[in-house]
Amino acid sequence: MSRIPLIVGNWKLHKTIRETSDFCRSLKEELLSGPNGPALREKKAEAAVAPPFTALSAAAQALENSPFHVSSQDAFWAEGGAFTGEISPKMLADAGCRFAIVGHSERRQFFHETDESVNKKAAALAAQGLIPIVCVGETLKERQEGQAFPVVERQIAEGLKGLAGMKPDALVIAYEPVWAIGTGQTATPEQAQEIQAFIRGLLEKIFSGPTAGGMRILYGGSVKADNIAELMAMKDVDGALVGGASLEVKSFARIVNGCIPNK
Ligand code: PEP
Repeated sequence: MSRIPLIVGNWKLHKTIRETSDFCRSLKEELLSGPNGPALREKKAEAAVAPPFTALSAAAQALENSPFHVSSQDAFWAEGGAFTGEISPKMLADAGCRFAIVGHSERRQFFHETDESVNKKAAALAAQGLIPIVCVGETLKERQEGQAFPVVERQIAEGLKGLAGMKPDALVIAYEPVWAIGTGQTATPEQAQEIQAFIRGLLEKIFSGPTAGGMRILYGGSVKADNIAELMAMKDVDGALVGGASLEVKSFARIVNGCIPNK
């Protein structure tokens, strides 16, 4: 089944409202007036930016009527209530989000995110019609101890519990080996493919074969303009979650251009 390539820029704790608006306007200009403008308008590939919560609305406004989307970097599962500091899926939809990243390794490492909380967040997002981007991936120690497959298997099984009824385009998985995030040490295309094919197999057990075949699995970890093409050449790499290289318009635009199928 054909899957539309997707590139998501995770800005982490970067950019003010003004910087976000300027970035989004320049990104539209850069990509839509370039050689791949028509392909992007025809949705041959998709791109989204994930600014901090404060700048989500500004990004949505700046990208209105364009083929580009907005993602949050996290979400909470409750619709409302006494949860100081949290943001609900309904609020994210209201701010103009289409996607929401959940389970990023930085949230797992620094903010006590667990497979259980990832699962609650993904379910709440899906119920609101938002597309969760569920991040999974092993640490360097886990890889060295031969635990990469069991760790990813547990994160997928626990993180997607109870979500079996989802449609192919309602869920995105991001495989992000923790040792490759922000280190400049990208996984080789073969390493990414090996785990992402494994993830596809896990999705087939949870969802039907055709559904799993239509779900996008992104790779994340030191993706740059000069390595996106070799990663995209892998059968089960359907796009990328990009950190550092998404902060600058030209660099992010080159990555988006690099994921467009040249057929
Ligand atoms: C990320 O934060 O999800 C990420 C992949 O970061 P970087 O591209 O900087 O490694």
